[in-house]
Amino acid sequence: MQLDTRVSGKTVLTGLIGNPIEHTVSPVLQNSLFSMMGIDGIYIPVKVPDGMLEDAVNGLKASGFTGFNVTIPYKEDVLRFLDEINEEVELLGAANTIRCSGDKLYGYNTDGDGFLRAFREQTGGGFEGKLVGILGAGGTARALTAKIATVGAEKVTVINRTPERAQELSLNVNRVLEAKGYGKITGHVALDSKEAADALEECDVIINTTSAGMYPKVDNSPLSDDFKFRREQIVYDVIYNPAETKLLAHAKKSGCRTANGAGMLFYQGVRAFEIWMGIDIPGNKLRDLSSEFIKYLAE
Ligand code: NAP
Repeated sequence: MQLDTRVSGKTVLTGLIGNPIEHTVSPVLQNSLFSMMGIDGIYIPVKVPDGMLEDAVNGLKASGFTGFNVTIPYKEDVLRFLDEINEEVELLGAANTIRCSGDKLYGYNTDGDGFLRAFREQTGGGFEGKLVGILGAGGTARALTAKIATVGAEKVTVINRTPERAQELSLNVNRVLEAKGYGKITGHVALDSKEAADALEECDVIINTTSAGMYPKVDNSPLSDDFKFRREQIVYDVIYNPAETKLLAHAKKSGCRTANGAGMLFYQGVRAFEIWMGIDIPGNKLRDLSSEFIKYLAE
């Protein structure tokens, strides 16, 4: 029998805490990144039961972990244990990546950066001077709204089924952005309103952050079948299962450039790895892994 010598006392330890974690694809990505970069490291998912978050965080810190990801339901709660957070975490009130250094814990949120890198790569587009419509007002909408508003968009309109949530998101993001000198960039309207139809019509980029259309409810879409896209619009769906949602099929049929959330998932993980390892991985080095990972997601 061949001995397995992959893990030793010198192996860099990283991981994920959350509950549930059974369906996570992050170990495939992170362990592949370690292999690809030739780094002796490992990424282990850890299911943390209700009420055990503090013990889990202290345990990872005491065990010499270099860093770890945080997923549902601990992204907000974990902030209590962090020594420093970056601007993004402050704005979002949630962290998905923690770096351990000495006896300190540093919090980051990589969703915005991951989305931005994926959007540029998948669509070839950017946000400078653009009108952007965000469908949804949950955690993902907040991360993307805040990010897009800081990279030169002219206006970001948050469009949600429950209008109060869109309003709250938009007001919160505007408040923080204005305090940082970005100006008032976000607005809000109710989905299924005349205002939403008008706002969507003039958007350069439409981004779905709702879960409408996600497997298994693949016949759902946040926009009705008679919605008319303009062919110049770019339509991005953060959902990656299915690879082509009903919304994306609709937009593609109208001649729009479209992309799904597989790239975002890939790059938010890459960003976490870069933070832990203190490196930037150039795009050309990631090309093969990115296509293998996207194939794996589609299986
Ligand atoms: P969330 O906080 O629960 O928010 C869900 C949003 O979807 C809410 O705005 C909700 O509207 C809206 N919604 C749900 N069903 C709808 C329907 N049938 N019609 C219209 N709107 C509907 O969720 P989240 O954490 O932001 O995640 C949202 C999606 O993003 C999920 O599909 C998730 O898998 C995906 N995601 C992808 C990535 C990636 O890397 N690609 C990363 C994170 C999340 P109400 O406010 O009216 O309820």
